[in-house]
Amino acid sequence: MKRRRFLGLAAAAPLGFVAAARGEAKGARVVIVGGGYAGATAARYLRIADPALEVVLIEPDPRYATCPLSNLVLGGFRTLDSITVGYEGLAGAGVRLVRDRAVAIDAAARQVRLARGDPVGFDRAIVAAGVDFMWEELPALRDPAAREAVPHAWKAGAQTALLRRQLEAMPDGGTFVISIPEAPFRCPPGPYERACQAAAYFKSAKPRARVVVVDANEDVLSKGALFKAAWKELYAGIVDYRPDSKAIDVDVASRTVKLEFGDLKGDVLNVIPPMKAGEVAAPFVTANGRWCEVDWLTYESKAAPGVHVLGDSLQIAPLMPKSATMANAQAKVCAAAVARLLAGRAPNPAPVLVNACYSWLSPTEVAHVASVHRYDPAERTMKPVPGAGGLSPARSSAEAAAALAWERGIRVDTWGDGASARGPDA
Ligand SMILES: Cc1cc2nc3c(=O)[nH]c(=O)nc-3n(C[C@H](O)[C@H](O)[C@H](O)COP(=O)(O)OP(=O)(O)OC[C@H]3O[C@@H](n4cnc5c(N)ncnc54)[C@H](O)[C@@H]3O)c2cc1C
Repeated sequence: MKRRRFLGLAAAAPLGFVAAARGEAKGARVVIVGGGYAGATAARYLRIADPALEVVLIEPDPRYATCPLSNLVLGGFRTLDSITVGYEGLAGAGVRLVRDRAVAIDAAARQVRLARGDPVGFDRAIVAAGVDFMWEELPALRDPAAREAVPHAWKAGAQTALLRRQLEAMPDGGTFVISIPEAPFRCPPGPYERACQAAAYFKSAKPRARVVVVDANEDVLSKGALFKAAWKELYAGIVDYRPDSKAIDVDVASRTVKLEFGDLKGDVLNVIPPMKAGEVAAPFVTANGRWCEVDWLTYESKAAPGVHVLGDSLQIAPLMPKSATMANAQAKVCAAAVARLLAGRAPNPAPVLVNACYSWLSPTEVAHVASVHRYDPAERTMKPVPGAGGLSPARSSAEAAAALAWERGIRVDTWGDGASARGPDA
């Protein structure tokens, strides 16, 4: 019932209202595009920073499937439902929800155009549309039907369920191929965690099956020693890791990944494509034709005043991962800055971001990597703080408890979703 709180907003708040309010803190409107980790956090924290702000969140999906823990769904160790959240918590915080897709963000006219509804005006907009895929790099996968046969499962939800069904249907003795694109992409340790979870499933359900990981990068990108130890100690003979192996296309009919050097046939293919900022952020892309650059004090786009960009769509600062933790942390800095700018005040000149990323190396054992990123005024970028953060010395079940607590905490912090995360065997 609460889902009905998604509003057809445009009719209720005509653009004239927005024009009258522009430049004043009271009644100013911030429109957020995308209700993932970055957008939902920004919405909640804007309401906290200034309850007088009108905060509008545009998101096409009624529920959001979180990517963290989605590899455990692929392994069969938890359900998709247990990692899916609703938007009721945001509605309860006074965020106005518009269930629609933004098709254009017009910075000059200060207006977001929607697929179905009327345009929505804004004083400031925050674009948090995550990633989209560069299908042109894998020509066969331009065809949406081919993506059903060869799922990416790099946005959780239907694709996760599809890949899980394929793994269940795969015969014992079959080969599961995971193809990793060149960095940067969403969640650097994610593909290696996926290899562990698939291997854990095969170990008990299909002991003759194998996971072949073809990586376009020259080595494991994150927690390398920990992943390699798990493959050796837990999944010997199951995981076969091949660096410097870039996929350039797929032959769907013969289930073959075409690599720069040679081809690789499998029974189930999981080809993770190269990524770029979510399509709707295209006008704000300024780096490599892929990513959006921002002022790190406010997250205001370098391409368009009044428009802020967050999360995975960003051109990263040095050693900054594209992660849920980072998207959530950036969003809090951005929300505080936007509230201050709308009130005619200067943003915090010294923001600090903390990242922590847990990886499940088995269904019950976890390791983490953490880093701290501080604003450098001379170079106007975020820089890792030397000596801060760290890496687990080994995987452990104690860290699994910490990882579940992190998942619970970030859900509440992002969506105001109090549903408690269940353990992997729930
Ligand atoms: C397998 C996997 C495991 C991961 N594990 C972890 C982990 O353990 N820890 C961690 O910190 N991170 C993890 N991540 C990374 C994390 O999921 C992302 O970094 C995070 O989701 C980025 O948040 P975002 O808000 O930028 O994008 P998203 O969460 O993708 O949100 C984007 C939102 O924008 C919406 N949207 C897109 N286009 C439009 C439009 N035109 N109009 C309106 N709405 C739109 C989408 O529907 C979506 O809801 C993992 C990722 C994967 C794939």
